[in-house]
Amino acid sequence: MQSVRGIKNLKKYGLKNLQIDCVITKFNYKNLEENVKFFKKLGVDELHFTLMRIGGNAQKNLDKVFVPIKEIQPCLFKVLETGEKIGLSVKTCGFPYCLIRGFENHAYEINFLKTFSEEKTYVSDELFEEIDWQKERIAIKAKTETCRECVYFCICKGI
Ligand code: SF4
Repeated sequence: MQSVRGIKNLKKYGLKNLQIDCVITKFNYKNLEENVKFFKKLGVDELHFTLMRIGGNAQKNLDKVFVPIKEIQPCLFKVLETGEKIGLSVKTCGFPYCLIRGFENHAYEINFLKTFSEEKTYVSDELFEEIDWQKERIAIKAKTETCRECVYFCICKGI
């Protein structure tokens, strides 16, 4: 409720390009459609559906919160289309390109292509710490042998 008030205030005072991150879990993956409509109504400009990172509390409660990508895909693809229909920019975040085929242009990571291609470090301020995403991603993501044949090899974070 507090977050909703916060979003309304930010829009009221003219914030442009308001982006919301929504981590997909077992609790919400079937309700992504509702999220899209809800945030559109609130005036959010861009909504990111983020693949859960396995670590910390997520790792401790894996059975309760984790949902396999295969189960997420139909719901995710549907809301990417819904976003287009209702005029809300909906992006995927953390999904490898091979698992969002047909929707690759919705990958949030496309924003980093220039950075990646120049081999620069992308620094993200997550709460109180800055992370070196180019180093971090190697630690938390992996690629398989098959990845070597993939057209996205150089720009993909892996799975
Ligand atoms: S590099 Fe690997 S994980 Fe990334 S899109 Fe290609 S096949 Fe998928």
